[in-house]
Amino acid sequence: LPPSPPAAPPREPPHVVVFPFPAQGHVNSMLKLAELLMLCLPGDDGLRITFLNSEHNHRHILRCSDVSSRFAGRPTFCFKTISDGLPLEAPRSMDKLLGMLSYLKLKARDVLAELTAPADGQSPATCIIADGILSFVIDVGEEFGVPVVLFRTISACSLWAYFCIPRLIEAEELPIRDMDRLITSAPGMEGLLRCRDLPSLCRVTDLSDPFLQFVTIQTGQSTRARGLILNTFEALEEPVLDQIRAHCPNIYTVGPLHAHLKSQLSAAGQVPTRHSSNSLRKEDRSCLPWLDRQPVGSVLYVSFGSATVLKRDQLTEFWHGIVNSKCRFLWVLRPDSIESHVGIPKDNIDAELQTATEERGCIVEWAPQEEVLAHPAIGGFLTHSGWNSTIESITAGVPMVCWPYFADQQVNSRFVSEAWKVGLDMKDRCNRKVVETMIKDLMVGRRDELSRSAVAKANQAMEAVSEGGSSWDHMNRLTEDIRSMSG
Ligand code: UDP
Repeated sequence: LPPSPPAAPPREPPHVVVFPFPAQGHVNSMLKLAELLMLCLPGDDGLRITFLNSEHNHRHILRCSDVSSRFAGRPTFCFKTISDGLPLEAPRSMDKLLGMLSYLKLKARDVLAELTAPADGQSPATCIIADGILSFVIDVGEEFGVPVVLFRTISACSLWAYFCIPRLIEAEELPIRDMDRLITSAPGMEGLLRCRDLPSLCRVTDLSDPFLQFVTIQTGQSTRARGLILNTFEALEEPVLDQIRAHCPNIYTVGPLHAHLKSQLSAAGQVPTRHSSNSLRKEDRSCLPWLDRQPVGSVLYVSFGSATVLKRDQLTEFWHGIVNSKCRFLWVLRPDSIESHVGIPKDNIDAELQTATEERGCIVEWAPQEEVLAHPAIGGFLTHSGWNSTIESITAGVPMVCWPYFADQQVNSRFVSEAWKVGLDMKDRCNRKVVETMIKDLMVGRRDELSRSAVAKANQAMEAVSEGGSSWDHMNRLTEDIRSMSG
């Protein structure tokens, strides 16, 4: 008898570590990705997912979301926590970002080392999916021989703008001299982006600014990862995706993640009864019965995300503008969203504003946003253009007025208005007259035209996440690649 071939080495079951940067938008989309992976990589080949959450966020998510019931009884999923270096109850404001990143870099190596070579007999990590702004994980992966795939939680268009920063500097388009000049050295975006539409961190006079440096370096590092996951879909961002592919050939566009998750759940016969929540803040669901009482398409939803801080006079201008538009409105005002105030300042708020708000407004501290955007009463969204909010609004077919606050939001709002034509860009303006006019245009004057393109984009999004759609196919490719990485 011929000698039998040597036995193949035993296959490690896939064990994926998902490691987000600890902020609402990042945790939300990466948890959705983890849930999708669980659906698409069934546990029969021993799959495990470890979600690495900051201790602070973990406490909040258990308290505020339905995560504990959604993940209960799933032996293949577990949370592991890591300190972000700040006292547990301290606020996580943007000025703490660089400090948190340095601390995480220091801490994460040991945690990841333990996961790649566990002492407790558990299966070792076979793949790490790390947030794209935690690119130091690529070094850790190389040290321990574990492949790293990055997940950038921003749009492809803003990622491409970040990629172009070194070219913009070389072409002396940065530092900015004239905010309204069209930029010429970002391929694929010529004729579209003005200097004011570049990421806000490009608005510095000193090019050694730590934020600018940080983002440019992180983005350059993406090319070293095994692949890059994006929460977008091909039909929305194909031209810029093609540009990014010249640097990062292996891109998985699997978005919109929240819609994709629902599509895969239905395909698996597990139709969700309601939207799942990954909130770090307690949602006030009382706005839903309020919305039920409003006419179809009559309500403006106003939210500036989890990190925007309004100056007192900006709050006043928005409030007057919204009230003067005569629209009904649902407004998310986080207690920490007004500079130097905790809660909505009660003093000096015009009695006229108070009365109008009682008559046709509803203010909450945090809303179940996906459910709100899907509600038939919503006719428009005044947003800060964070990528999660933008893609959630696109998927719901809700047109937007954009008031970008910082970072990638300046790019998103330009694409919303000029490339995708699903909204209006109010960038760098905040006075009551402009706010009023923009809202009236959105809800009345240009309503039909904007709604038509918004619905068309929403249909494309749904196609992408349906069986055989581009995001569905990219998800299949991602899961196959994760399996082969553990071989
Ligand atoms: N969000 C929410 N309730 C709110 C406001 C926001 O659930 O009242 C969610 C929203 O659905 C989105 C995330 O918080 O998924 C905000 O992410 P985004 O990228 O839009 O902005 P960021 O908070 O990161 O600036």
